[in-house]
Amino acid sequence: MTHRLHATLGLICLLAGVFAPAASAQAPSLYQQTEYKGREIGRLTGEVYYARMDDYLSVFMVTTEGIILVEPIGSEFAMWLKGELAQRFKVPVRYVIYSHSHWDHASGGAIYADTARFVGHQNLVTLLEMPPATTALPQAMRAQDASGNGRIEEAEATGNVKNLFALYDVDKDGAVSGAEAARGPLANVRPPDQTYTDRLNIELGGKRVEVISKPTAHASDNTIVRFVDGSNVVFASDWITVRRLPFGGDVATPAEIALAKTVEAIDFEHFVCSHGRLGGKADVTANIRYREELRDAVAKAIAAGQTLEQVQASVVMAAYRDWEFYAQQRPQNVAGTYRALTAAR
Ligand SMILES: [Zn+2]
Repeated sequence: MTHRLHATLGLICLLAGVFAPAASAQAPSLYQQTEYKGREIGRLTGEVYYARMDDYLSVFMVTTEGIILVEPIGSEFAMWLKGELAQRFKVPVRYVIYSHSHWDHASGGAIYADTARFVGHQNLVTLLEMPPATTALPQAMRAQDASGNGRIEEAEATGNVKNLFALYDVDKDGAVSGAEAARGPLANVRPPDQTYTDRLNIELGGKRVEVISKPTAHASDNTIVRFVDGSNVVFASDWITVRRLPFGGDVATPAEIALAKTVEAIDFEHFVCSHGRLGGKADVTANIRYREELRDAVAKAIAAGQTLEQVQASVVMAAYRDWEFYAQQRPQNVAGTYRALTAAR
């Protein structure tokens, strides 16, 4: 459990305890404030397209033998997209690739199950497993257990647990157990048919899609996808953001920066994060530069003897003021970097 808790600390701070530890996906409500609205499909290059639902993005490649898609993004979007794809391209979805297990990205795949195979990292299978029945409610959710019986009955649930109750309560007994709470709202995540550990190539209709493991602090099953067609497209979820501050605290650690650089080194022109605006190679470079400048600024402030509060006030990262989520994520980014740098000394 500790790895899941670790991955979510920043978001717990962010959402002031409303969000449960295991539900390490961001709440979609977080993204309702952005400017990106509505559903649309657009071409990126060759036969590679993006599909948008408000702030959420997926990418797909069309071949003569069918479509390879990342990210179902929920049943509602999947039903809409499946209809659009059938009408426009007249070929079925043959593969659905999961970027990671988080419910807001991975739910709804069953809509494509009549024609598609589902591909995910081996760790995704573990994350979908129900923890032992003896698992206690995660600390951040215990306050909801008003009766103190170790479970959250539907009438007791608040916030995220209330909103996503049916996705937590897998056995449909009217209560979220400790195990169900720890697993997260994953009832609509269809398990993969095919798993991989390091790398997997999918060949379809004479085209290639590369499925690559990049385990991050956000998701141990994190998968990026390179669509090889024309000027090449890389999709990476919830991690390398486009003109948007990265989320949480673990953004400027040596491991995260080194991993982001391995993505920058890949051959591609178009870059699609799972959220916000469409990007390119230069956006990945800018995201890495932000992390490095953050790291250096926080290190300098620590060397000058500043406390966490002082560092949060002084490291303003002024060059990034116009990036999305600046006001909300800068303090999280600074605090996480401060903790990482002081722990490393
Ligand atoms: Zn996520």
